[in-house]
Amino acid sequence: MRTLWWISEDLRLRDNALIDRATRAGDQLVVVWTPSPSQDRAFLFRKAHLEASLWTFSKSLREAGANLYGSRVFCPSQSWMKNFIFKNQIEKVYRTRSWGAEELHLEYLASTWKIEWEWVDQNSLLPMESYDPERLRTDKVFTDWRRRWEKSLLVPSEPQLLQGNFLSAGEEDLLPLDETKPQFLHPRIASSESGAKEALESYFQGDLASSYKLTRNGLIRWEDSTKLSPYLALGLLSPHSVLRLLNQYEKDRGTNESTEHLRMELMWREYFRRIMALKGVALFAAAPRYPLAEDVLALDLFCRWKAGETGVDFIDAHMTELRLTGWMSNRGRQNVASYLTKSLGVDWRWGAKYFEEVLIDYDVHSNWGNWAYLAGVGQDPRDRVFNPVAQAARYDPEGIYTSYWLRKRRE
Ligand SMILES: Cc1cc2nc3c(=O)[nH]c(=O)nc-3n(C[C@H](O)[C@H](O)[C@H](O)COP(=O)(O)OP(=O)(O)OC[C@H]3O[C@@H](n4cnc5c(N)ncnc54)[C@H](O)[C@@H]3O)c2cc1C
Repeated sequence: MRTLWWISEDLRLRDNALIDRATRAGDQLVVVWTPSPSQDRAFLFRKAHLEASLWTFSKSLREAGANLYGSRVFCPSQSWMKNFIFKNQIEKVYRTRSWGAEELHLEYLASTWKIEWEWVDQNSLLPMESYDPERLRTDKVFTDWRRRWEKSLLVPSEPQLLQGNFLSAGEEDLLPLDETKPQFLHPRIASSESGAKEALESYFQGDLASSYKLTRNGLIRWEDSTKLSPYLALGLLSPHSVLRLLNQYEKDRGTNESTEHLRMELMWREYFRRIMALKGVALFAAAPRYPLAEDVLALDLFCRWKAGETGVDFIDAHMTELRLTGWMSNRGRQNVASYLTKSLGVDWRWGAKYFEEVLIDYDVHSNWGNWAYLAGVGQDPRDRVFNPVAQAARYDPEGIYTSYWLRKRRE
């Protein structure tokens, strides 16, 4: 059968259930990338990470005997894809499922084209029953939901590496990629499948996972948390590969509170996928819970927040790190989100949208889910307000992190 693998975010050949499915079926595969709607809005470090990852992915594909096709225009073009499918007499399309509202809309539109589709939920660690809306509604808070599902985490064995039976299309449809290194690459984050694998293995080679719970809020040492999210977000790494190594680590060195906490963080990732599947567009439409500043003032406050010029050092340092690197720690994200929505009175969606543009590990489920949660409009009704002065005293007592980024802001 002539089939097409339609990619936006699964830039890997290893541990890829979708490729495994297609090759087992003996299908001939043509590989096509088009940006997801949110990739179309990416800029600076997020965009550079995507472009560099696409480049390395296309190189790996070439080594495996395949080309990467795509539109010349960087845009999630429906008409280009439809045309490509019919021009190349494709009979079936494989695509990884994402639960973002725009992504599901795209899925709906595409499903009206008269060909066979297979949507694979391959970036999830739990079985499909865990999307059951009734159960999600019953479990009011994350902890209840986690307790119900944690024992069902799936760790399938790693599928075989791609055994190519590839189709070729016209040269005019090769994805045009720029070989020059993009300007805004994060110095510590690789933009390749091999770099992602190296980062994963090196994290679990040492003892870091055994003290993860104690270090994860650290702001200075890169190793304080795994830093795997930029790889998971683009699918350079599968979540199964992370869980496999975590399980192996526990087998070899024992389970403790830290390793369990790391597993819990992976469960947060799963949780937000389900919250988005449950709520759909309603999640994006959730009206802010806190009193809003007037429009003109809100715009001014928002611009100053983005620029790291609010006057609150701990917030400004984090927003500067984000602007200058595309990265921010989880502690920082919680603080800046709480500050924007609860102290400045700016609509939480403005903040989430800005993160979407610049965050190097942007993921539709985790970003919008966390923002809604922080803004007090998520499924989980707990509502915390962070005091940035107290948080700075606790997490940056000597001010090393804050003064470093405030200095950078002035350079
Ligand atoms: C306002 C806000 C926006 C966020 N936006 C994103 C986003 O766009 N993409 C993203 O991947 N994460 C997002 N997060 C979650 C979290 O901040 C990052 O996953 C984490 O900081 C990534 O660093 P790490 O890989 O070192 O995580 P670790 O602490 O090492 O955790 C391991 C993995 O668990 C998952 N994880 C950890 N915390 C969370 C969480 N709260 N929610 C969902 N998954 C989690 C991630 O996949 C992470 O890589 C957001 C959090 C907040 C508060």
